[in-house]
Amino acid sequence: MKEGAERGETRTTCPYCGVGCGVIAKPDGSGGTAIEGDAEHPANFGRLCSKGSALGETLGLDDRLLYPEVNGERSTWDDTLDLVAARFSSAITEHGPDSVAFYVSGQILTEDYYVANKLMKGFIGSGNIDTNSRLCMASSVAGHRRAFGTDTVPGCYEDLELADVVVLVGSNLLWCHPVLYQRIAAAKAERPHMKVVLIDPRRTKTADLADMHLAIAPDSDTALFNGLLAHLARDGVTDQAYIDEHTSGFEAALAEGLDIGDVARATGLDRSDILAFYKLWSGTPKVVTCYSQGVNQSAGGTDKVNTILNCHLATGRIGKPGAGPFSLTGQPNAMGGRETGGLANMLAAHMDLENPTHHDRVSRFWETENLATKPGLKAVDMFQAVADGRIKAIWIMGTNPAVSMPDAAAVEAAIAACPFVVVSDVVSETDTLRHAHVKLPALAWGEKDGTVTNSERRVSRQRAFMPPPGDAKADWWQLAQMGRRMGFDAGFNWEHTSQVFAEYAALTAFENDETQGGRRDLHLGAVADLDEAAYNALPPFQWPQRASFEPSQQTRFFANGEFYTPNRRARFIAVKSPILESHRGQFRLNTGRIRDQWHTMTRTTKAPRLNAHLAEPYCEMHPADAAALGVADADLVRLSGRGQTVTVRALVSDDVQAGEVFVPMHWNDQFASSARVDVLVPPVTDPVSGQPALKSAPVQLAKTDMACHGFAVSRERPSTDGLAYWAVTPIEGGWRMEFALQDEPSSPGSLLADMAEGLAANDEARGFWRGAKFEADELHTAVWLARGPLEVSRNWAAALLKETFSDTQSRWRVLAGRPAADAPDVGAIICSCMGVGSMQIADAVANGAFTLDAVGSACGAGTNCGSCRAEIGEIISANQLIAAE
Ligand code: SF4
Repeated sequence: MKEGAERGETRTTCPYCGVGCGVIAKPDGSGGTAIEGDAEHPANFGRLCSKGSALGETLGLDDRLLYPEVNGERSTWDDTLDLVAARFSSAITEHGPDSVAFYVSGQILTEDYYVANKLMKGFIGSGNIDTNSRLCMASSVAGHRRAFGTDTVPGCYEDLELADVVVLVGSNLLWCHPVLYQRIAAAKAERPHMKVVLIDPRRTKTADLADMHLAIAPDSDTALFNGLLAHLARDGVTDQAYIDEHTSGFEAALAEGLDIGDVARATGLDRSDILAFYKLWSGTPKVVTCYSQGVNQSAGGTDKVNTILNCHLATGRIGKPGAGPFSLTGQPNAMGGRETGGLANMLAAHMDLENPTHHDRVSRFWETENLATKPGLKAVDMFQAVADGRIKAIWIMGTNPAVSMPDAAAVEAAIAACPFVVVSDVVSETDTLRHAHVKLPALAWGEKDGTVTNSERRVSRQRAFMPPPGDAKADWWQLAQMGRRMGFDAGFNWEHTSQVFAEYAALTAFENDETQGGRRDLHLGAVADLDEAAYNALPPFQWPQRASFEPSQQTRFFANGEFYTPNRRARFIAVKSPILESHRGQFRLNTGRIRDQWHTMTRTTKAPRLNAHLAEPYCEMHPADAAALGVADADLVRLSGRGQTVTVRALVSDDVQAGEVFVPMHWNDQFASSARVDVLVPPVTDPVSGQPALKSAPVQLAKTDMACHGFAVSRERPSTDGLAYWAVTPIEGGWRMEFALQDEPSSPGSLLADMAEGLAANDEARGFWRGAKFEADELHTAVWLARGPLEVSRNWAAALLKETFSDTQSRWRVLAGRPAADAPDVGAIICSCMGVGSMQIADAVANGAFTLDAVGSACGAGTNCGSCRAEIGEIISANQLIAAE
């Protein structure tokens, strides 16, 4: 029986970020599913962020891919899988095993990953399986392997609460790992002496928690941490006994240490700020250095990781309660992919492709003679091989590379030209799916069953609580069926997910008994013989779990040395601080996430409240740059590079440095006319990890003048024909759309009448046109268009679709574009959980609510998941003085 099933609830795990929060899903009795945080889950202890809280709103079947399709026609599973197996087999026969590839995803489960890797590396005999996790944390993997000999995260989340100093490097924790932010914030509130340092070129919302923000020059982290290593040695806080007994290469690494002057020149920071940071780090034994995409997504990402690891190794501050380096993974199961060999250069169960002992061991375990002998193509190289025709058949699973890969337009063109493309996904339309010859319907969150591993090595069950819709099937099942059809029956005859898990767990334990010389870090031997019932009841646990199963234990590595290199010593890596290239008159483009969207928006846009926070793609730019280009806040701007352009809304802010711009990674062709920002990013990768440099693309920037700007709300998705710019977003009851026209139409009034025939208010001379169409007592469509800036209260307008309009006066009121004087405007939505806008929060401050708790009591903002508390804090600060005057 599934945990909690007797109460009608299912314990499962959030499918978004690498925090891996426990979730309780419970049918609400009226066709929906209530979601709450699992108070017993050690990752979140009941907390959820805005995305996790809204999971219940993302479960509808609209826009789902429900049946297999071949060349656009519905097909059966048998026929479709026969075709896929035949096409892959014929490519292998004609061109060899390296002519086929799998590109998979940190969204799939560990069992899916295990079967995909076993099929490609074990039986097809090619290393050509890579994952979109390559884009997110491959540099951490490479850094760990260089230093530790294996990809081991030494610490656990508890360390973030036990530390006296938490350093966040290139990590917007509040938006990207919100529940970890909440845990640190709660610990800091309990222990006010605890300090948080943010190292990031941008002043992200996470700065709200930081005692110190070091706005370093992009990609100068290596210099900062090389300087820290030298400072630690000068300060005499290096742990010589630990260095002598457990490491090698310290002197060479120290020789690359920089003095404060060099660090200041490289980072652009004041010497006093650098020194303050160094003294804090040096003087605090309990220090945790967390890092994520700002470190990893760089042409020097692996070196950055190793300079951080060097500092922790030099002080022995590793694997101890409250002390250690901590890589935070982006995706829910990036770690599961790392563990099972989802990366092209890994084998499985933390074994190495190039290691003959490992190769022999896995060959015997899988009973195959065809195990790949060399690494396959990493993501960027894989799509270049698709482009130049070396890859004849590719299976893309649960990911959207036409949006998320660097050089995205070239990647899309490569996919479009590939002779045979299989895409398995849960949705029916993505920028990648439209080029698939074969579409395979996969199970979505809430329907699929398996395990995921979070950033702290904690394995949790994702459990199904809804039946599979249509003909959708689990990813592992699809792959196993393919394996059987390719003639590899014996290796792929599982009947239940638990059997896949048990086999994978057994592999981690195979010839890994410490008493007989086994010495691999990843060991799940204690859960290798679970039957289906025990698997279904499996509680969250951290690995390793060797002889006896102890789910409640916190596990750490390396406090006492014992690394996984041949001599069991950690390796310091001597890293030169790179001389950073100037982009010579161009802007440096940084890409990243926003608070309430996930990846390419296929799931999060289904929850209207998540779309209310930031409904349009934008470019954050410094006021000085904006002034130089004649750009005002909310103008449209065009970014160009690599022969591609992107058009988004300007957000003028000194949170970014001059010469830098930030654009979110999420928007794609389904939701905006031209906002696939990765088309601008060159396919430059870290030479060690193969991870793309997604945060440092040279681009040009210009204001885009439009003749007219418009806004519409409608029950149906509005047509975008003829619009020069548009961004469309689902809202409760329909859609909202921002749009713009390059040229003023000869008859704007009739253009609007086409969109919303009914009431109209046009003023040619003053340059505005407004129209509204009603059906019975409900608004069907309202459109506002103006020659200049469009002054329409967006959230008020979006809420009109929920109202009734029984009298003429209320209908004419719609055309005004703003609420009546007796119905105040709520402003931009800040708290998406409670639906509270900026003006409501400002009102609360004006009435004396000067703290977060007081604002929460006054209007409810920030009282659910807390992801918006930094933004509420900014509104309090901005309005407090006004209120006091
Ligand atoms: Fe999900 Fe939010 Fe937890 Fe991440 S922090 S796992 S997105 S609830």
